[in-house]
Amino acid sequence: MALLVAENIYRSFQGFMALAGVSLRVEEGSFHALVGPNGAGKTTLFNVITGRLAPDRGRVFFQGREITGWPTPRVARLGLAVSFQRAQPFVSMTLLEAVALARVGYQGKTFQLFTPLRHLAEVLEEARWALSKVGLDGAAQRRVSELPLGDLKRLDVAMALVARPKLLLLDEPLAGLSRAERRQMVEFIRGLLRQEGVTLLFTEHDTEAVLALADRITVLHQGQVLAEGIPEEIRQNAEVRKAFLGGAA
Ligand code: ADP
Ligand code: MG
Repeated sequence: MALLVAENIYRSFQGFMALAGVSLRVEEGSFHALVGPNGAGKTTLFNVITGRLAPDRGRVFFQGREITGWPTPRVARLGLAVSFQRAQPFVSMTLLEAVALARVGYQGKTFQLFTPLRHLAEVLEEARWALSKVGLDGAAQRRVSELPLGDLKRLDVAMALVARPKLLLLDEPLAGLSRAERRQMVEFIRGLLRQEGVTLLFTEHDTEAVLALADRITVLHQGQVLAEGIPEEIRQNAEVRKAFLGGAA
């Protein structure tokens, strides 16, 4: 079953067409990579899927239900979460506070003076659960600003996981990591999501990591789908080689 379907998505910025008729199907249980050179439209497509951006044309379905134009927290409540990518607004918080706040955000609530304690307790419990899932429970009281980049990436995953998603979107989860750290992160993501039964749609530049993690790949190029298939098909695809290697292959 397709968990996510994007149908013929168009989106332009001041006349520049970032997405020009992109369609995508993500099957339940799959790890699906969206690859393509810088500026191909990957992040824009993620933003359209999660409701951060409205498409000019096209529709998005999650579990068969149309969600085009829904606000992000409402999409998240259905089970589609996206990583924050930058923990920037959270740097002065503790890890527990940052994950708890993410949870509250997904619930579409804000903390107020008279927020029932029962609700606060539930939020903190979920936040602790998410931190333990990414192996950061021991660091719950540390400040986000103190974390090395590898741990920040894990925090990022925890902040998405706390939405209890069926589908997780990760935009360049390995960016900035060393080769050894990337390998570790690939193993970590695979293990965690298999265990939790979470479907993954991710973007990544590191070909080795993509081939290690993905069981399906969609190639975007200049706002259009250039190819789609299992990793072996994509590796053999002449058009993909040409687009990526400038005809050198
Ligand atoms: P990718 O994630 O594949 O690198 P993006 O989706 O970020 O690509 O960008 C696709 C194209 O759309 C780029 O040319 C980028 O400059 C442009 N773009 C993306 N977001 C905006 C925006 N908010 N305003 C103007 N142009 C944008
Ligand atoms: Mg991007």
